[in-house]
Order: sequence, then structure tokens, then C-alpha cells
Amino acid sequence: MEKINGTGVSPGIAIGKAFVIKKAEVAVSGILLKGENEVIANVAAFNNAIEVAVNELEVIKLSLAGTDFEILETQIELISDPQIAEDVIEKIQSERKTANDAVIEVIANVVEVFESMDDEYMRARTADIKDIGSRILKHLNNTKTNTARFKPDSIIIADDLSPSDTITMDIKHVNGFATRTGSKTSHAAIIAKAKGIPAVVGCGDSLSTIQNDDVIILDGTSGLLYIDPAEETINEFRLKSEIQKQQSEKLKALKNRPAITTDGKKVMLSANISGAADMDDVHENGGEGIGLFRTELLFMDRTSFPTEDEQFKFYKQAALQSKGKPVIVRTIDIGGDKQLPYFNIPAELNPFLGYRAIRICLDQTDLFITQLKAILRAGVFGDLLIMFPMISNIQEVRAAKNILEKAKEELLAENIPFKANMKVGIMIEIPSAAVTADILAKEVDFFSIGTNDLCQYTLAVDRMNEKITHLYDPFNPGVLRLINNILEQGRKHHIHVGMCGEMAGDPLAALLLLGMGLEEFSMSASSIPTIKNTIINHSEADAKQVYRAVMTMDSSDEITAYLKAQFV
Ligand code: PEP
Ligand code: MG
Repeated sequence: MEKINGTGVSPGIAIGKAFVIKKAEVAVSGILLKGENEVIANVAAFNNAIEVAVNELEVIKLSLAGTDFEILETQIELISDPQIAEDVIEKIQSERKTANDAVIEVIANVVEVFESMDDEYMRARTADIKDIGSRILKHLNNTKTNTARFKPDSIIIADDLSPSDTITMDIKHVNGFATRTGSKTSHAAIIAKAKGIPAVVGCGDSLSTIQNDDVIILDGTSGLLYIDPAEETINEFRLKSEIQKQQSEKLKALKNRPAITTDGKKVMLSANISGAADMDDVHENGGEGIGLFRTELLFMDRTSFPTEDEQFKFYKQAALQSKGKPVIVRTIDIGGDKQLPYFNIPAELNPFLGYRAIRICLDQTDLFITQLKAILRAGVFGDLLIMFPMISNIQEVRAAKNILEKAKEELLAENIPFKANMKVGIMIEIPSAAVTADILAKEVDFFSIGTNDLCQYTLAVDRMNEKITHLYDPFNPGVLRLINNILEQGRKHHIHVGMCGEMAGDPLAALLLLGMGLEEFSMSASSIPTIKNTIINHSEADAKQVYRAVMTMDSSDEITAYLKAQFV
């Protein structure tokens, strides 16, 4: 039996057979295009792939010097060669080849020509041709996982899963998933948790030893994978899984009990959702509201932006199904690791520091107004609040609020009913916002602390990079001081402060956050019963003691050891 160590991101035990998703395979399909529409679509896909590939090379080039820079220049020249484009398009149009097949064939021809040249320099260019071929194909075959192929009891083994792969996954056939890359707060991990699929990420290269149909035990709590385990190990884990299920059923029985400490302090336990489909889980686990409705998932898994009416229906459905509970709707947070196939953001060297979220919305105001109008309209059907992500300064808040007013004016002029006095809040997930919470508090009705990003930006640790996952630490005293400041300023300015980052659902953090004065904990619905269990079994006075002790400590090692000791 082989054992692989990764990061457990979604608890639970899964037993099943490996379904290995390979990186996009590049092979001639032999498929011939059927009609004119398919021809047009393939030409467009090819042109788009070239554009994205050139942009990507341009960005990489900026960071290079000397020979590397020249290689990139050559590649850009080759990839933009009109002859290559002409040959590919000719094959698509006249020979009815798919863009994929046409690119493979044209590149193979060019390689052959270059290989037969006398000039040594030119012969050496074959590597560049092959390289650009792979680059175009990579963008062309930006394929999604065909989840329909999953056999029952599959454990998905993949390099990485994009958020849209994860949301479209047919979970009735998937027992768990393990990926080579990723970390606790990568979006695929968050979605897995929301769907209750045990998951382990950041397993590294050892994952490549797994073959299709290998028997796997995946422990999403400890982050371990067991490959081809003995029968008795399987039985041992089946038993463990049964016990975990019973414990979780027991905790679910707390569903209707409010989250009140033994000395009478009430806190609100809410859920993070991606659509109305998640709402049943929220009610079942006793969620009192939605602290974060991630709307961008509506924008994924499609080929164009949803219209105002499509969005309106989506938000209205969530509003209706919320049964009167408050729902914080976050405006679109694309960029970073959340890319849309139809919205071409040129490749960036630092996507998490780049063109993302509110930055896109303030730049492309049409897109923003459409979403705001849809949310305002849906507000007639439930207690919706609006929240802007990735705020770094007060100008952005004011600009976003101005656009919100414009959206209202448009709805008024169109005579369409909407909720005029919808509360407006912001995510505090950038250190500058955390430090200037006193300034920002004057502009908004509420804050929600996004620890996933706050942690990555404060500690300069990419939340997606498994190599540095040990540095991604919400218990770092620097992060805790920022959170404490946000809560203090919220109290001082009498605005509601919640937390919707993953830390809010971490049992180890619950007492500390309660002691700090957090009013709303918003998390994956499945985490609510565990956090509630902690709250109802402790007093606020004890939690304050924990908070005071933690704030005197120097390191996260000391802090986490102390917090663990509170539960023994
Ligand atoms: C966060 O950053 O903590 C957050 C909740 O937003 P997201 O994970 O969607 O970036
Ligand atoms: Mg965020």
C-alpha cells in the first residue's frame, strides 16, 4: 500500500476507484466539421487561441532579458506568422478539419520544412515551432472535464480542477477528489467543501503514480491518500467513516437551536453559497442567513455573459428560497483563479494582484450595472444585501456606490420595481482595507472579512501554491491583528461585521473569533453544526480570555497549540 500526503480541504472519508484526468491530450481526432456554423466556430476558436497565446508570450517576455527575451521574441513572431494562420484556416474551411487537427497538421508540416534546412540556426527553430504549436493547442483545447464519463464511486485524480470543473462535476458519481496542486482556499477546494465531497489537494508529483481503477482511500480530514490498501485497512476506514457520519448526524440535530454561548451571547451562523441550489443544505444545517453569495459561478460554465434578466432570475430564486433570511450578494469576483472562457483577460504575471473583481467592474461599467440592476430587482423578493469584493481604498467604494445609484436611476426610468434602500457592504480582504477600516466604515453598512485573500495578501503567500501552503497561516499574529482592528473599528462605527473566509468555519478559530467580538460567522453549510457545537458549549467570558491570551503571543505555533489545548 502506498501513502500520499496532501492537504485535507474537505473532511470525510471516500473509498472508491481512481479516475485519472490527464492533461489535455493532443492528438488528431479525424473528426470532420459538419456545417458552416462549425467551420465559423472553429476559425473563431483558432483566432482566439492565437490572440491569447500571443498575449501570454508578451507578458512572459516582459519578465525576461538576454537570450530568453530573444527566444520569446522569435516565438511571438512565429506564432503571429500570417502563413501559419492562413494554412490552418484553409484546412478548416476547405478540408473541414477541426481547428485542433488543422493546427497539429500545419505545425507538423512547418516542423518538417525547418528540420530539412541546411542552415543550423533555422534547424534549431524546430523546437520553437513545436513549442508554439503546443501553446496554441493548450489554449484551443481549454477543455472542460467530461464529468459524464465518471463511473460510480470514482475518486477523481487530477492535476488541478478549475472552479467550473468542480461546479459542473456530477457528484452522484464522485466520492472524492485529489489534485496535484492547490491549497485550502483554492476555489475548487471551497466548492468541494460546499458540496460535501471529501478532497485532498496539493499532493504533488506522487499523484502521477496512480492509475485508473486503482483502489483509493481518501481521507479529507488528515489529507492522506492510501493506494491499493489491504482489505482490513478498507474495513477500518469504512468503520471510521460510519462513526464520522453518525457524529455529523448528531450535530445536525442542533439545527433549530440558536448559537448562544453558556452565558447568553448570541452569534449568527450563516452559510456561503454559489446559487439557490445550495439553499436546501443551508436550511438543513441550521444556517441563519447567507454571509456570502458568490455570484461569479453563474458566469462560469457558459459561453457569454448572462443577461440582466438571466441574472435577475438567478438572484430572485435565491431570494425566494432563503425563506426570509438575509442574503449578502457579492458582485462578480472574476480574475485571479476564476477565469471565464468568453472573457479574455490577457495573461498576467500576477493574476491575484491584477485585473480582478471590483477593478474589472469599475473599468467595464456596463457589465457592473447589468449585475447591479439584476440584484436590485431581485431585492423585491427577499432580504438581499449587496457586497463589493477586493476593495483597497475609499475611492473604489465611492465609485461603486455611484454606479449603484446609476443602476437605480436606470430602473426608475424603465419603471421596473426594485429595492431602493438595499444595504451596501464591502469585503475586507486586502490589508490596506483592514488597516483603514476606520475610514471605510463611514461609507458602508457592513463589513465581511475575507480571510482567504486577506491571509494571502498579508503574508505574501499565493493561496493556490502547494509548495508554500505551510506559510499560509490565518493564525499568524499579523493576520490576527488585522482582523482585530477590523472588528474594533466596526464596533466603534456601529456597523455589522461578519467573516466569510474559510477561517470562519475553522473549529480551532471559533473561540478566538467569538472572543474578538465577531458577530456573524459564514462558512460552508456543512461546517455550521460543528461551529455551533463549540459556541453553545463555551461562554463568551472564556472566549474573551482566550482572545486576550492569544493577542499576547508571538507566534502562530504558540497560538495554535494554545487553541488546541482549549478543547481537551
Ligand atoms: C475571501 O477572500 O476570504 C473570500 C471569501 O472570497 P473568495 O474566497 O471568493 O476570494
Ligand atoms: Mg476573496
